[in-house]
Amino acid sequence: MGFSPDFIRELKSLINIEDLIGEYVKLERAGSRLRALCPFHSEKTPSFYVNPDSGLFHCFGCKASGDVISFVERIENLDFNEAVKFLAEKYNIPIKYTSDGYDKTEKDAIFDVLQEAQNYYRQNLKKDSKPYKYLTERGILEETIEFLKLGFAPESGVINYLLKKGFDRDVIEKAGLTISGGIDRFRKRIMFPIFNLFDKVVGFGGRIIEKSENAPKYLNSPTTPVFEKKTLLYGLNFSKDYIRKRDFVILVEGYMDFASLFQNGVFEVAAALGTAFTERHAKLIRRFASKVYLSFDADQAGLKAAIRSFEILANEGLFVYAIDLPEGEDPDSFVRKFGKESFYILLEGANEIPIFLTKYFLNKEDFHSKSLREKLESIKLILETVSKIDDRVRQGYYVREIASMLDVPENNLLSELKKISDKNSFRTYVKQEEKKGKVLFSEEEKALLCFIAFNSQKKSEIDRELKGYIETLPCYPFYQKLMELDYEIIGHIAHELPEELKEILSSVDSVTSDLRVILKTIKRLSIKKQIENINEKLKTFADSLTDDEKLMLLNQKVQLQKDFHKL
Ligand SMILES: [Zn+2]
Repeated sequence: MGFSPDFIRELKSLINIEDLIGEYVKLERAGSRLRALCPFHSEKTPSFYVNPDSGLFHCFGCKASGDVISFVERIENLDFNEAVKFLAEKYNIPIKYTSDGYDKTEKDAIFDVLQEAQNYYRQNLKKDSKPYKYLTERGILEETIEFLKLGFAPESGVINYLLKKGFDRDVIEKAGLTISGGIDRFRKRIMFPIFNLFDKVVGFGGRIIEKSENAPKYLNSPTTPVFEKKTLLYGLNFSKDYIRKRDFVILVEGYMDFASLFQNGVFEVAAALGTAFTERHAKLIRRFASKVYLSFDADQAGLKAAIRSFEILANEGLFVYAIDLPEGEDPDSFVRKFGKESFYILLEGANEIPIFLTKYFLNKEDFHSKSLREKLESIKLILETVSKIDDRVRQGYYVREIASMLDVPENNLLSELKKISDKNSFRTYVKQEEKKGKVLFSEEEKALLCFIAFNSQKKSEIDRELKGYIETLPCYPFYQKLMELDYEIIGHIAHELPEELKEILSSVDSVTSDLRVILKTIKRLSIKKQIENINEKLKTFADSLTDDEKLMLLNQKVQLQKDFHKL
């Protein structure tokens, strides 16, 4: 049994691809088509195109392409059947099957049981006075409780309730509501249902209301077929339209912060579910906004968190600002005390992370009284973040600002920044190479790379000598990279090199340091390789090569053999 072909055609024709994809990425018009930053790979300039006339999308960067169904399959991580159901439900199009009957998937069953569990928790909120009192004491209003559909999990009961409603024990467990079949996972907790972007309950966050030694303050659903913490942000289903409209999001730490800001009229907000930010979070945010506001504690831990979050978010092209809250306040307490207007004024004064760090070192750590070594360390830390900004003009702006704030010459900062950037680009390059698989070098190549790394003054001589030889060898990409770098840089990055290259560079004593010998062996190696290539060609294309072509290859081979013996 499957979907009727007519139904699939109808579905595709009824759904406007522009509207659908526009919910995930910011589309801009480009002639008859629409363009956006690709949601399927990281990029800084748009190569993802949507053609409303044909109903198709295509990315010139990662080659992703297809129609509305395949788009949903990829972006929501669904299979074909799930994607079709998802779209039918979203656009209220009745599903038609080739024959009647309807198989519920496991995911459908989990969604249903979670929805029913939410009903149960909501019914329980007012049965006991404690949870309700807990919320109202923290300033959460009745209307917010209704809006966020908050509930309460009593000591036990959800299992019996759900079993009576006809759900399988197995599905209840898979939905993350129970532990080892018989026990409620959430006990005596305020329940925050966590929704996906289409307002379906995918999991729960529970906050304890009575202090307990052996229970965590917050407890989330475990990973289930419909719930994964590192891909979700709490509240985004409520706030996404506000976020898109204003082009920024305030990321807060928990559900209570979210509830408080939202209730006080600060709608551009979402909360991480008790995990560090991931690349997936950054990609999710980028679908709605380009600016992110975060608040950090003004201490060493806060500093580290700021740097880490910044790297992940800036890597996806997001602008990251640190909200400068008064000592002892968090977003929740601040907005309750001073109101929404003051909060927005605070946002206007927020600094991008590099400036935030500079201020931190100036004000919290008394930069000017530090030793030279400590000063340099702080400066490096700041410049590391500047180097993550993929925009030379902005980088220049920050360097000028930081130089004047710290009272150090701008040029010194610029040359240090260049070193860091070179190092980063080499690091990126090495990572890409490693992804492609381990590169294997011959002993001769190792000797060459090693020699270059430690004798950078000989680089141009080597390059002149090896032209026409080096290009055919496996080490060529590494060779090129080494040629661009200073020896000093090699020292900086030694610990980040791939095993192969590290091994080469550390075996400096065991390889010859006679440049003439190295050059000769490399040339011979290259010639051998070229001869092998010719033999390979002659063998593989024996039938398709013309006599002239064969003769030409044989002549080349003879010439190479002569060259080899002349060396
Ligand atoms: Zn792409």
